[in-house]
Amino acid sequence: MDMAVEAGVIKQHLIDPEICIRCNTCEATCPVNAITHDDNNYVVRADVCNGCMACISPCPTGSIDNWRTMPVVRAYSIEEQLGWESLPAELSPEELEAAGVTADAADAVEVAEAAPAQAASTEAAEPVFHSAQYGATVPPWSAAHAYTNLFPPKTPTTATVVGNFNCTEAGFDSETHHIVLDFGAIPFPVLEGQSIGIVPPGVDAIGKRHHARQYSVASPRNGERPGYNNVSLTVKRVTEDHQGNPVRGLASNYVCDLKVGDTVQVVGPFGASFLMPNHPKSHIVMICTGTGSAPMRAMTEWRRRLRKSGKFEGGKLMLFFGARTQQELPYFGPLQSLPKDFIDINLAFSRTPGSPKRYVQDLMRERAADLAALLKDGASHFYVCGLKSMEEGVVLALRDVAKDAGLDWDTVGAALKREGRLHLETY
Ligand SMILES: Cc1cc2nc3c(=O)[nH]c(=O)nc-3n(C[C@H](O)[C@H](O)[C@H](O)COP(=O)(O)OP(=O)(O)OC[C@H]3O[C@@H](n4cnc5c(N)ncnc54)[C@H](O)[C@@H]3O)c2cc1C
Ligand code: SF4
Ligand code: SF4
Repeated sequence: MDMAVEAGVIKQHLIDPEICIRCNTCEATCPVNAITHDDNNYVVRADVCNGCMACISPCPTGSIDNWRTMPVVRAYSIEEQLGWESLPAELSPEELEAAGVTADAADAVEVAEAAPAQAASTEAAEPVFHSAQYGATVPPWSAAHAYTNLFPPKTPTTATVVGNFNCTEAGFDSETHHIVLDFGAIPFPVLEGQSIGIVPPGVDAIGKRHHARQYSVASPRNGERPGYNNVSLTVKRVTEDHQGNPVRGLASNYVCDLKVGDTVQVVGPFGASFLMPNHPKSHIVMICTGTGSAPMRAMTEWRRRLRKSGKFEGGKLMLFFGARTQQELPYFGPLQSLPKDFIDINLAFSRTPGSPKRYVQDLMRERAADLAALLKDGASHFYVCGLKSMEEGVVLALRDVAKDAGLDWDTVGAALKREGRLHLETY
């Protein structure tokens, strides 16, 4: 053990609550479950984080790359961090010395010294399937360059609502809106697969301004209306929490109730890896539930426009799309009008009265032969977006399809990740 650890000092990993957009990427990425959150903040467990840095580059805002030299006995607890509104300053040399940390020990401490032997060994004892480990943190090699964080959480820009309609069947409890925002003369370039943040107006119960909520861009790179500086979103009105209890989601209800002509505060764009390939004949397999269809709509529409202009060179488009019922499936009507030789559509409904429950992973297993052929092809790219609860089942289905086709999943899964060909975005 080195001097710094002997002296009881660590580099504590912390998240800046002022610029974190609560996107969950870090929590999904961390291989040792060191990150957790509540309704207020995302935080890092000092005794679990081993300084592996896996979460640093996927974080869209840079808010996760903060480190404080701390005496082990004074490491900030989870409870303290959950209550923060801003990061604490570094302890002064005097404060460190008063806690028994010499200047030499403080200078010597490095990030990896915070390694928690016991957390790592628990994981190693029983290997569990961790779907997030297969998600790529790099974009496909032929993706276009993505601009990110042009308007960070502290300095939003303004967009004007130019469209808002219900893109699910009217008259049902579950409602999802298609919203179009125009940026006027403000540069706000986005690519399919990126997201933006909407800042709900007003302040919370303790007078703090609300944090932004993220929404995937549903329009292609040249705008919802081609040639205009606008983007569309697919926003589900949250009326119940994940356990089914009634709740009024703050941002989603605000967005769904916006009128044409209203202005909104926007941050972003965010996301530099969930991006589509641009090379000829690249295949795209899209697996989504509910509003996870937003980035898939963007990618499909971009390819549709390319095809219309004669620039589409024939890569396959395959869609697995799940919702509770057909009435709750966003864009059900427009999907039906896409040519069959352009996109291979597979719909799964889990709560159609009188029909057995079907999930996207069931459809994937039914289409195993086609998926296996795509898994064998290095030009295939897989995108998964939607409810968190779908992620593991979908990646397990991909693994089983690979195994049943005689492929070695460890090799295939590692290649998908390394080559930016399997992207997971669930929330
Ligand atoms: C990368 C990313 C992309 C996203 N893209 C989209 C998108 O394209 N379209 C979209 O509609 N949403 C999307 N979301 C979710 C969105 O950011 C908000 O979390 C969601 O709109 C709820 O915010 P709210 O303010 O209405 O609810 P809150 O007031 O924050 O939450 C109210 C309660 O509802 C629960 N809750 C939150 N979200 C949901 C949900 N989706 N279903 C059920 N219960 C929920 C919360 O746990 C809480 O208990 C995305 C999230 C991430 C991280
Ligand atoms: S540095 Fe590694 S262990 Fe620590 S929170 Fe990030 S991903 Fe988890
Ligand atoms: S913004 Fe960064 S720190 Fe905050 S939840 Fe997302 S990945 Fe984690």
